[in-house]
Amino acid sequence: MRRFFVEAIDPEADHVIVKGKEARHIISVLRMGRGDRLRLMDGEGHHYIAVILEAGHGGVKARIETKIAPPPPPPTKTILCQALLKGDHFEYVIQKTSELGASIIIPFFSERTVVRINEKALESKMRRWAEIAKESAKQSGRESPLRLESPVDFKTMISRLAQSPCVRLMLWEDEGRCDIRGFLKEIESMRVITAVVGPEGGFSEKEVQSAREAGFSSVSLGERILRADTAAVALTAILQYEMGCLSRSMPLTVRHH
Ligand code: SAM
Repeated sequence: MRRFFVEAIDPEADHVIVKGKEARHIISVLRMGRGDRLRLMDGEGHHYIAVILEAGHGGVKARIETKIAPPPPPPTKTILCQALLKGDHFEYVIQKTSELGASIIIPFFSERTVVRINEKALESKMRRWAEIAKESAKQSGRESPLRLESPVDFKTMISRLAQSPCVRLMLWEDEGRCDIRGFLKEIESMRVITAVVGPEGGFSEKEVQSAREAGFSSVSLGERILRADTAAVALTAILQYEMGCLSRSMPLTVRHH
């Protein structure tokens, strides 16, 4: 059943009005109308089944039929600290790590980040990022969108995370000893894992040193140098797999061909 976002659904009300882009999509693209059913999400993890009463210029009026229990929150949380990247690479990271189930992205700028975002541009950037996360939540069926925090500088991020009770790793392309397999073997159980991925120009030795002092382990993803967005997506997939977030709660029925 198609999913649509509706800001702040009042579960006590017996109907809801879908407006704007979502309404236009329902009416003009999907040609849905009276009697058709929709799955509505409010972005906070609440899902409802509603049936269309009327669809027109004012939007789509739908009667709320049932409230669906939101899927259980993921057993663990992946927090990705991602250096700001050029072009649409950062947006690519948002979309792909959202599909893979990451919980939060903390954008940061560091010594070698090329991208600088001024106050004015930041607002529209954050809106764009939130939109990508919402679209991806709809497409992938996540219970709620990936959360984007405001960009911080590297030092602030590291010191803030030094206090938080989580497993901390930093992907460093020049790490010669500890690789991701070895790192994960050392970890018993992790409820929250925070991973830092650098910009196109990588990290300075000083940055690696200060991250280590803050309790981060520098970890390698092997001999080849990955683009930052490749590293972010590959690492998220590995962590999500390792934490059991890419599994089926119910075993897949084996299809006999
Ligand atoms: N300094 C690198 C170079 O010499 O070309 C460029 C950095 S790489 C393009 C961007 C980021 O991806 C790095 O800061 C690191 O976080 C991550 N990364 C890429 N390849 C990696 C690898 N093999 N092991 C660990 N991290 C890697």
